[in-house]
Amino acid sequence: MTSEFFSVGTIPQCRCVFFDRDGVVNRSPGEGYVLSPDAFILNDGIGEALRLLHENNVLAVLVTSQKCVGKGLISRSDLDAIHARMQELLAEQGTAFDAIYVNRGDGDADDYPAKPDPGMILAAAERFSIDLRQSWMIGDADRDISMARAARLEGAIRILGEKEVTVSADYSLLETKELFELLRITLKL
Ligand SMILES: [Mg+2]
Repeated sequence: MTSEFFSVGTIPQCRCVFFDRDGVVNRSPGEGYVLSPDAFILNDGIGEALRLLHENNVLAVLVTSQKCVGKGLISRSDLDAIHARMQELLAEQGTAFDAIYVNRGDGDADDYPAKPDPGMILAAAERFSIDLRQSWMIGDADRDISMARAARLEGAIRILGEKEVTVSADYSLLETKELFELLRITLKL
């Protein structure tokens, strides 16, 4: 019997935690948008959560809606600069996101569909060979939780904030600094 025989169907898959951005990774800009790197305020506990995931070979992928680009409030390079600032702040804590997926709402061919369409999650799953049934989503809006359900993830965590709650998550937290402990328990890390 050849080794190739055993390799069929045994491609290793990794787990992933998908993060919404505003209201989760950084302080919510309210009804508006983060329009400059200086306005990006990293929330407590995000760096610690990402380090925990990476130490356990779990990917951390950002999936964010930034329709401010489609509305012409900032350019794509402005958005890149904001995300460079985010990665720089995380690097100061010894970590970073593995990938960033954005729905810009600009109608360009390389844009991803708006949440709750699971397009951004499915694209990451294909690129990194992610086992979605063992992966989680963290968000603060109904559309984040609905996207997690549409992608058939194992579960979804909500950070409670200003947004109205009409779709229930598996867990809800008041503070992002509680994420470390919740991820440790739910993902058995
Ligand atoms: Mg949000």
